[in-house]
Amino acid sequence: MCGIVGYIGKRSAYPILIKGLHRLEYRGYDSAGVALINPSSALHIYKSQGKVSALEDTARNQDLTGTVGIAHTRWATHGEPNHCNAHPHASQSGHIAIVHNGIIENYAAIKERLQAAGMTFRSDTDTEVLAQLIEWEQTQHPQSIEQAVRSALKQVEGAYAIAVLDNRQPDTIVSARKGSPLVIGVGEDELFLGSDASPIVEYTDRIIYLNDGDMAVLHSGQMPIVTDLHGTIRQVDVQRVALTVSQLEKGGYEHFMLKEIAEQPTSLRACMQGRVSKDEIRMEEIETDLALWQQARRLVITACGTSYYAGLAGKYALEDLAGIPVEVDYASEFRYRNPVLCKGDILIAISQSGETADTLAAVELAKQKGIPVVSVCNVVGSSIPRASDKVLYTRVGPEIGVASTKAFTAQVTILTLLAIRMARMNGTLTDANYRALVREMSSLPDKVAAVLQQGEAIRRMAEGLSFASNVLYIGRNYNYATALEGALKLKEISYIHAEGYPAAEMKHGPIALISQDMPVVAIATQGKVYDKLVSNIQEIRARHGRVMTVVTEGDTRIANMADATVAVPAVSEALSPLLTIVPLQLLAYHVACLKGCNVDQPRNLAKSVTVE
Ligand code: GLU
Repeated sequence: MCGIVGYIGKRSAYPILIKGLHRLEYRGYDSAGVALINPSSALHIYKSQGKVSALEDTARNQDLTGTVGIAHTRWATHGEPNHCNAHPHASQSGHIAIVHNGIIENYAAIKERLQAAGMTFRSDTDTEVLAQLIEWEQTQHPQSIEQAVRSALKQVEGAYAIAVLDNRQPDTIVSARKGSPLVIGVGEDELFLGSDASPIVEYTDRIIYLNDGDMAVLHSGQMPIVTDLHGTIRQVDVQRVALTVSQLEKGGYEHFMLKEIAEQPTSLRACMQGRVSKDEIRMEEIETDLALWQQARRLVITACGTSYYAGLAGKYALEDLAGIPVEVDYASEFRYRNPVLCKGDILIAISQSGETADTLAAVELAKQKGIPVVSVCNVVGSSIPRASDKVLYTRVGPEIGVASTKAFTAQVTILTLLAIRMARMNGTLTDANYRALVREMSSLPDKVAAVLQQGEAIRRMAEGLSFASNVLYIGRNYNYATALEGALKLKEISYIHAEGYPAAEMKHGPIALISQDMPVVAIATQGKVYDKLVSNIQEIRARHGRVMTVVTEGDTRIANMADATVAVPAVSEALSPLLTIVPLQLLAYHVACLKGCNVDQPRNLAKSVTVE
C-alpha cells in the first residue's frame, strides 16, 4: 500500500526514483509522483493519476536534473485518486515538498486552524495539511526544515512515513515514521529511502530499519542521523539484507501471481528447511522457549485477509492434533473490542508483509496486556516481527502479486508444523501417527508439484466460471478455510462476487441462490465429512446447479456427479488444505486472465495494508 522512494547522492536521482516506484508497484496504488531539487535549487514536482508509466509520460521533456529527490505511489485514503491529490504535495510557498504514507487523523482541525490564519489548500488530502503545517512552523519561528518537521509532527495524530524536501536546504531529506514502514539504504556516499528494501537492494544491501517515533535526516555522503521527535540521537544498526534483484523479477512468467503459484514446491521446501527432518519436527523458535509452549492454555490467532484464513486452517490442525483451544480473530476487530486475554494465552499474529496496520495494533494491544506474542511473517525485519517476542518466518522470498498465494501455503505450513510439534509435546499423537505426519510434510512439495501439472484442466474449468457473476465455494472441516480463501482469490483478481461457506450451512440460506447461473466450487477430498459433501453436491445437482469439484485422486464417485473435477494426491486430512488451495489459486488466476483483468495489481487493492 503506497510506496515511498528517496535518493540523495551524486547520481541523477530521477531514474533511481522511477525504478524504485516500479519495484514498489506490487503494493498497489492509484497515482504516482516525484519531486526533484535541480542543481540551481529549484524544486520540481511531477505527478500523474494512474500508473508509474503515466508519470514517466508526464515528466518526459521536463527538467529532470538533480541528485536529490523523493517519489511516491499513492493509495488514496483522503480525497479522490486524481492528479491534484497525488503526492508529492507542496507547501504554499512552493519551497517544501512532502510524500506520505498513512493517515493524519487530526488533519481537519489543523486545516481549519491554518485556513483561519490565511493559508490556502489545493488538494483534499490529509498530507497537504502536514506540508502546510511544516511551513507554518517555519513562518512562526525561522527554523531548519528538520526542526519544523519535528514541531509539526508533535502536533499530528495518526500514522505516517514521510519524506520531506526544502529547496532552501537542498542537500537534505528529512524522514520520519510512526505506524507506517520506512527503511534507509546506505550506499557509498549516497543514501536511499524506501517503504521496504525492494527499491534499494539493487544499489546496496546495507539497510537501516527505522522504528516508530524515529526521525532521520539524510545528507549526501554522510551516515543518516536518527533521532526521536525530541531530537535525542538513537544509535542504529546497519543490517545486511539477503533480497536479490532476480527475486523481484518475473523470471519468464506472464504474471508474478503465476510465478508465485508455481514456486510453491520450492517455497514450501524453504519454509520447512531445518524444521522438518526425516522423522522429526524441530522449530528452533519453539525449542529455545519450550516452557512458553508447554504452559500455553490457549492460542489467539489474529490476522487480516488471506492470513486470517491461514489462521482458520491452523485452528483446525492445532485443536485437532494438539488439543489446544484456538481463537481466530480479525485483527481489526480484536484491536477495538477489548478482548479478554488471560495468563497462559499466546497471541499468534500472521502477516505476509509484517506491516499490516491492524495486525500490528493487535500485537501492541496484546503486549500491553502482558501476553506473549509470536508472529508468522514473511518480510524479515518488518514492523510486526520487530514488535513480537518470537517470529516464525515463512521464508518464501518476496511475494509481489497482490493476491497472496505462496505466503498463504507457507503460513498454513508453519501452523501445521506448530500443531504437530505441540501435539508431540502434549502427547496427543501416537508415535506412529506423529512420524507418519512428519513424513507426509516432507512429501508435500512433490504433491503440490503434481497438482501444478494439472494447469490445463484447471484452465478449462476456468472457462466455465468466467461468465458467472456469482460463485459459491463450499468446504467443510479442514477445508472450510480453503473455501473462504478460494472465494477470496476469485473476488480479488477477477471481480466476480464469490462467497465461501461451510458446506452444511448451505441449507440455511445460500441454497436459495442455486441455479444454472450460480456455479458452485466444492472441495470434497477424502476425510471425515466426505459423505456429507457428496450429499451437498447431490442437493446442488437436484436444483440444476453446476458443480466444479476438487477431489482426491482416484475418486470417481464425485467425478461422475460433477461438471468438472480436479484431483489432488491423497494426503492426511490435516494437511489437505495445503493441496486443495493450489487448484483454486490457479482457477482464480485463469478466470482473471480470461476476463482480461490486471492479475498482479487488481483495482482498489494494496499488497501491504499499512493503513487501518
Ligand atoms: N492519506 C494520504 C492520502 O490519501 C496518503 C495515502 C497513502 O498512504 O498513499 O493521500
